[in-house]
Amino acid sequence: MSKSYVAVTYDVCEHNDLYEDMNEYNLDSSVDMGKQVKRFAEQDIAPLVKVYETASSDIGELTLYKEYKFKEFECDCE
Ligand SMILES: [Zn+2]
Repeated sequence: MSKSYVAVTYDVCEHNDLYEDMNEYNLDSSVDMGKQVKRFAEQDIAPLVKVYETASSDIGELTLYKEYKFKEFECDCE
C-alpha cells in the first residue's frame, strides 16, 4: 500500500490560547517535503505545520508524521 502525506497549517498564539488549523494540502511525494511545507507556511503565514501520514486504503486514518515550526511566522503580540 502506498502512503500519502497531508500537510496541515496551524495558526498559533500562546497569548490568546489560539491553536487553529487553517488549510490542508496534499503533498507531492516527488518533491522535497521540507520545501513544500515551507511554501505552505509562507502562503498561510503559519508558525506550525503538521504533516500527517495517511494509508490510501483507509483515508480517515491520519498519523502524525512530522512537525515543522517556523519562528519567523510566530505572532509578535505581548
Ligand atoms: Zn499572539
